[in-house]
Amino acid sequence: MRIVILSDIHSNLVALEAVLSAAGNFDALWSVGDTIGYGPRPNECVELMRKHAQIAITGNHDLASLGKIDLRDFNPDARKANLWNGSQLTPENRAWLEPLPPSIHVDKQFLVAHGSPREPIWEYLLMPDQAVANFELFSNQVCIIGHSHVQLGFRMRTGSEHAERFLPDSGRTVELNSSTRYFINPGSVGQPRDQDPRAAFAVFDTSNNSIRFHRVAYDIAKTQRQMQECGLPPALIRRLEFGM
Ligand code: ZN
Repeated sequence: MRIVILSDIHSNLVALEAVLSAAGNFDALWSVGDTIGYGPRPNECVELMRKHAQIAITGNHDLASLGKIDLRDFNPDARKANLWNGSQLTPENRAWLEPLPPSIHVDKQFLVAHGSPREPIWEYLLMPDQAVANFELFSNQVCIIGHSHVQLGFRMRTGSEHAERFLPDSGRTVELNSSTRYFINPGSVGQPRDQDPRAAFAVFDTSNNSIRFHRVAYDIAKTQRQMQECGLPPALIRRLEFGM
């Protein structure tokens, strides 16, 4: 079984379509939150997740767009984009987004949390020390996270007190070793922030218990034109081409 793992679509439909097409045939899809916010096509992105996602969770921008957390927690550009995204949602798409939790235990092997197990909505899990502290809070072998928009992983061997961070190249495959625990961040589909502007995602292959990291180029200028037409903030438009 091939399971597509993606996060932080942020209403970037052009990027999402590129990811779905690059992913090829898949059997399931897990969406790790922030389907909307920032970008120009919230309804279309939610509709694709309604169609494809077996597992979906919420993120801070989803919650802000829905009016469920305080917009003052965001900078002015993000606040403006969240307000606009929320105002666009159809009742059906809002009804799908509203009940999503910020973390889910998938099975014995997998936990999914937008930010981290410790703080599913807000923590940016970027450093090995944070990974170590978070590993203590759950027993699943692997936790899938998003939120930082950085494609990365952490691994910690049984008995070790240290976690190692790795920044995968596109195409890199990580075989899940039974004596090791992992955090896996597939990166962001719609607004990467790791200096690589290509859309990011990962694929879990159950046949060999491995996760492969991917990057795919998409028509960034098209998303930027759509954002301009929607009157979204210029700084959010520009950042897409720099991957930051
Ligand atoms: Zn995000």
